[in-house]
Amino acid sequence: MCQRAGLLVGWDYTAKRAMVTRANCEQWNCPECAQLLKDRWILRAQIGARRYLAAGEKVDFVTITGHEKLTNFAQTHHVWQSAWPKLYNALKRRNVALQYMIIPEKHDDGRMHVHALWTAGVTERWLKDNSRKRGLGFMQEVDHVKSVIAAVRYVTKYIGKDLGAEVPKGFHRVRVSNKWPAIPAPETVMNGLKWEYVNGNGALEVVYRECKAKNIDLIDIETGEYFDDVDLGTEIGGL
Ligand SMILES: [Zn+2]
Repeated sequence: MCQRAGLLVGWDYTAKRAMVTRANCEQWNCPECAQLLKDRWILRAQIGARRYLAAGEKVDFVTITGHEKLTNFAQTHHVWQSAWPKLYNALKRRNVALQYMIIPEKHDDGRMHVHALWTAGVTERWLKDNSRKRGLGFMQEVDHVKSVIAAVRYVTKYIGKDLGAEVPKGFHRVRVSNKWPAIPAPETVMNGLKWEYVNGNGALEVVYRECKAKNIDLIDIETGEYFDDVDLGTEIGGL
């Protein structure tokens, strides 16, 4: 469980209880959250691949390499950032319904490779020519995805792989097109609660007081027991 973030408190005034759980910081450099994010992206790849294959669309695994003159991650990433919008426009002209999931990878030689699952339907020859025109490498690969499980195996290799210390701030480890299907939210009783994020001891103290005043039980979601106090590592101010 993530140790960095605060708590989530879900108020259920009718049942006179509030459900408490740890929030997730959702950062790749947090070991607990990295696993969670990885699992979630793999599931999302699976949902997308299943939908597009079922609809009879062409789904491909793609590897796009950077220009051979570039020697490190930062350079290859920099060129990719300006090359992708142009390559994207060219791909859209081939298939207006283009959907993609892109996973940048730090290759063994330190350069950035881009892996993608996409529905562009272009050939390897097309990708080689069109990538080159945008300043990318000449080695590009396109392989047809024949099954959902193959798509899952493919993305599992790259999602969450260590990118090293060179990764720029705010770097997105997975990028998806707007319409790539999301993971449906589970239908649970928790959906109906009024959720509040509690990020410090002072805010938690306010929760305790509200519970006491309104005779609300504070319940730990994980254990089902009454919630024990927790130190969120901040000073309690003004009490
Ligand atoms: Zn975390």
